[in-house]
Amino acid sequence: MKCMICKSGETVDGKTIVTLNREETVIVFKSVPCQVCNNCGEKYIEQNITESLLNIAEEVNSSGVQVDIREYKAA
Ligand SMILES: [Zn+2]
Repeated sequence: MKCMICKSGETVDGKTIVTLNREETVIVFKSVPCQVCNNCGEKYIEQNITESLLNIAEEVNSSGVQVDIREYKAA
C-alpha cells in the first residue's frame, strides 16, 4: 500500500519489535509482522495483530510478571 506518512513510499512486508507497558509490566514482542515503508521506514501493524498483542499483554500483566520477552506467533 501507499505510505500514509510520506505519501511517496510503498510498504513492503517486514518484521518489527513491539514494546508494551502495562502498569508494572513490560512486554516485548519480537518478529511481529508488519508493513514497512521503503522510503521513510514508517511501520504499519494490522489491527488484529495489535489487538492480540494487547490481549497477551493483559494476561502477562495479570500473571504478575514484570518483564516478558517473546516471539510473536500468529494465532
Ligand atoms: Zn513513508
